Amino acid sequence: MKALVWHGTQDIRCESVPDPRIEDDRDAIIKVTSCAICGSDLHLYDHFMPGMEKGDVMGHEFMGEVVETGKGINGALRKGERVVIPFTIICGECDQCKRGFFSVCERSNRNKHLAAKAFGHTTAGLFGYTHLTGGYQGGQAEYVRVPFADKTHIKVPDGLSDEQVLFLGDIFPTGWQAAVQADIQPTDTVAIWGAGPVGQMAIRSAILLGAKQVVCIDRVPERLEMARAGGAITIDNATESTVERLNQLTAGKGPEKCIDAVGMEAHAPRALEHAYDRVKQAMMLESDRATVLREMIYVCRPAGILSVPGVYGGLVDKIPMGALMNKGLTLRTGQTHVNRWTDDLVQRIANGQIDPSFVITHRGHLEDGPELYKTFRDKKDNCIKVVLRP
Ligand SMILES: [Zn+2]
Ligand SMILES: [Zn+2]
Repeated sequence: MKALVWHGTQDIRCESVPDPRIEDDRDAIIKVTSCAICGSDLHLYDHFMPGMEKGDVMGHEFMGEVVETGKGINGALRKGERVVIPFTIICGECDQCKRGFFSVCERSNRNKHLAAKAFGHTTAGLFGYTHLTGGYQGGQAEYVRVPFADKTHIKVPDGLSDEQVLFLGDIFPTGWQAAVQADIQPTDTVAIWGAGPVGQMAIRSAILLGAKQVVCIDRVPERLEMARAGGAITIDNATESTVERLNQLTAGKGPEKCIDAVGMEAHAPRALEHAYDRVKQAMMLESDRATVLREMIYVCRPAGILSVPGVYGGLVDKIPMGALMNKGLTLRTGQTHVNRWTDDLVQRIANGQIDPSFVITHRGHLEDGPELYKTFRDKKDNCIKVVLRP
């Protein structure tokens, strides 16, 4: 089959690899009909995440049709069914899965000892996302093996197109969880840093959840325009002071809720050892990144909530703990518990409350993947979200 294969820094190739096979009774094989390139794939593209190996298949945002099931699937999935696959692989049986905390599934990362060393604790197993998160081959391919497939899927109702539902696997529930974790009240101003795909989903989610006013902060003109189209007031932090504008928009009180849809991006260590020094190095090179967290702590209204869907990989220096504590702020974080939200979100798509496909700016085939990675990374051609059809 064809797949987008990682070969090294900024070296992703479309090439032939062996078809995946059933390896465990709870596996299913999916024929991929649509997949997307995610902002967090760029950490791998630029090789800021450790644990990639030559030959790894990329991609954790994908959907398709079930073509084969292992003996242990027991009717939970049938051949021919259309499914979106959540980026977090879940066993459905461990203590955390039973509580709905799927992104910290205790069983699906088969390399969790490596993740514990690099991140302090393991996440669930993730598709196409380094050997630290299980080394599972990704979905930017014609076929993919889904482990624990009896639980790791979202069924798609008839009548909804791939583009309407594809983002149920990551960015839509990620933006949604960020908004839910902010516990939005009708009197709230919600400030969202980052107008990338997750920020865009967080804007729509905050509005659906009834925020009085949503403000989005970024510096890329077309992303700010998309944010405004979704109902946000925008701040261009290349030309305006974020703190001043936020105070203006809230009569000097500050936003009640703040969402960090930027994260550290480039700050994960390249090697397991010396993680701390590496991260410090990275921070000096990318000193604007950690400022989001600080800015949120300084500007948030006392007793407010900070919600962090943005990805952090290691240690962060110079967090104003005094302000965080004395202002009585609540900090909520986490990788997304995808399946916790998707029954509700499928319904919201089906009844027309939201069509997440608004975020797509570029479409192509797997062969176009290497070029589109570059376009996306460089934010060329107003690129916000890429969808590929194998
Ligand atoms: Zn993603
Ligand atoms: Zn589990």
